[in-house]
Parts: sequence; C-alpha cells; structure tokens
Amino acid sequence: MATIFTKIINREIPANIVFENDKVLAFKDINPQAPIHILVIPKKEIPTINDISSEDKELIGEMYLAIAEIAKNLGVDKDGYRVITNCNSFGGQEVFHLHFHILAGEPIGPMRA
Ligand code: 5GP
Repeated sequence: MATIFTKIINREIPANIVFENDKVLAFKDINPQAPIHILVIPKKEIPTINDISSEDKELIGEMYLAIAEIAKNLGVDKDGYRVITNCNSFGGQEVFHLHFHILAGEPIGPMRA
C-alpha cells in the first residue's frame, strides 16, 4: 500500500531532497534525531525488509552506493555515521516503505538507547 513516501517520490508533498537517481531517493527526515538525519528509500514500493525479494538484490546494492555517495557529499564519510532500518512493530517501524536512516553530524552513541 502506498505511503507518504510514495507521495514524496511523486512530488505530491514536499521534501528536502538530497539525492535522486532512477531507483533511489533520499531526503531529510522531518523529525531529525541527529544534526544530519537522511532517509534513503527505493522508488519501488517495498513495505519492510521482510518483503525484499531476490529480484531486489541489485536495488539494495544501489541503496548502499547511494548512502556512501550521500555521506561523502555531506562531508560525514570520514567522521562516520550510522545506518538503521527498522522492521515492523518491535523494530519501531512507522512508515511501511523500506528506508535506511542515515544519522550523522555528532557521535551517535550506543547502539541501543
Ligand atoms: P521509521 O520509524 O518507519 O523507521 O521511520 C520513519 C521516519 O519517517 C521517521 O523518522 C519520521 O520522522 C519520518 N517521516 C514521517 N513522515 C515524514 C514526512 O512526511 N516527511 C519526511 N521528510 N519524513 C517523514
């Protein structure tokens, strides 16, 4: 089912876009949890990690290549950053369109708060 992220892909609602190619879009999180908080999403609608199929292997690789490029563009690649994907309720997932969070700009702290 389409989510708010599909509306961002289709430019039906605004977002602060930092990266785009034919398969991947990245934009600033509306409620940042770090000085830099970017969401990296596939343009294909995949609800959760559980819904990734073998035909998505290349797409997932494209997403990681995008993450590395975004980190370099934002100048956080050397200091480092954290990449998180939440899955379903125990993982704390709120938007059911696969996404990677990039958190950066300061030490991100312990893995689990
Ligand atoms: P999740 O909890 O599903 O892993 O993360 C969803 C993220 O999407 C949250 O960090 C939330 O702040 C962000 N978010 C929700 N709605 C919007 C929106 O309309 N625009 C943007 N830029 N981020 C959103």
